[in-house]
Amino acid sequence: MIDLRSDTVTRPTPAMLQAMMQAQTGDDVFKEDPTINLLEAKCAALFNMEAALFCSSGTQTNQIAIKCHTRPGDEVICEAEAHIYQYEAGGIAFNSGASVRLLPGDRGRINAAQVKAAINPDDVHKPPSRLVCIENTSNRGGGSCYHFEELEKIQSVCKEHQLALHLDGARLFNAIVAKNEAPAQYGKLFNSISICFSKSLGCPVGSILLGTREFINQARRVRKILGGGMRQAGYLAAAAIYALDHHVERLATDHRHAQMIAEALEASRWVQTVLPVATNIIIFETKAITAKELVGKLKAQGILCNAISADRIRFVLHLDISPQMAATVIKTIQSL
Ligand SMILES: *Cc1c(COP(=O)(O)O)cnc(C)c1O
Repeated sequence: MIDLRSDTVTRPTPAMLQAMMQAQTGDDVFKEDPTINLLEAKCAALFNMEAALFCSSGTQTNQIAIKCHTRPGDEVICEAEAHIYQYEAGGIAFNSGASVRLLPGDRGRINAAQVKAAINPDDVHKPPSRLVCIENTSNRGGGSCYHFEELEKIQSVCKEHQLALHLDGARLFNAIVAKNEAPAQYGKLFNSISICFSKSLGCPVGSILLGTREFINQARRVRKILGGGMRQAGYLAAAAIYALDHHVERLATDHRHAQMIAEALEASRWVQTVLPVATNIIIFETKAITAKELVGKLKAQGILCNAISADRIRFVLHLDISPQMAATVIKTIQSL
């Protein structure tokens, strides 16, 4: 089976497993796991931020960040399709007691003018606007990336109105590679950044949260409250270190595969439109067939993918899709 359902389906490579087997470990709740300490220092240095915290998932890093930036009754501003709102099980309400202002975006991206217009005045009737969350790349937006200049404008608005700015960068490295950016550019703009190792970087588990030393101290406490304190998790941190060293530049291959497959889709009689491909995600609309039916046809040919609505399908490229498999996907689409 060729599995295009998500980039979370990857399995550790033999070399990654080797790195995991050789990890030095200790009790991380005592801050004594040398491999976790190394990973946190490495990530903080890469993004030129003060400190980092290794966590179990991207949901956990996002939710910890929102908890640390807000107090109950505050308002969080984000795009309507944002993962923090759509796919984190109501965690903003559950964990932080905050309300959410949803903005309609352009393939998951909001702009500075929208953010500015969504900030509540100092009025007893209104929840205090406290935090803006950005998603880059945008999952529901089909892997779209922000123009960096727009992010700078959003930061100015946040600074002017004393709002915190958080980045859900589950797939931030896809954006960085696609746009030839530097991690430190992001460290400069955001108060906190969350990045997944378990997505396109090919790790079995893990995310990192970045911020100031004070913020990360608080985040460590919230992680403990959520039951997220880990012990000899250096085996997992070793996978993340391996991924940072070996699986970042290769993301360009996934992006190339996505472009090639999108071209084949555009020529298919079953496809109405394909969203512009920016990174490793393809979202397309079906024609004369439901998404569910087309998913079934592809499955019968050995290709797994997800319907994300009645007439939309998502493909995600990743480490476990070889050039040969990408070619098979293209041939299959052409033969349908
Ligand atoms: C996957 C994802 C997350 C985190 O998901 P987990 O499964 O909890 O690691 C957060 N944001 C976005 C945009 C994602 O795609």
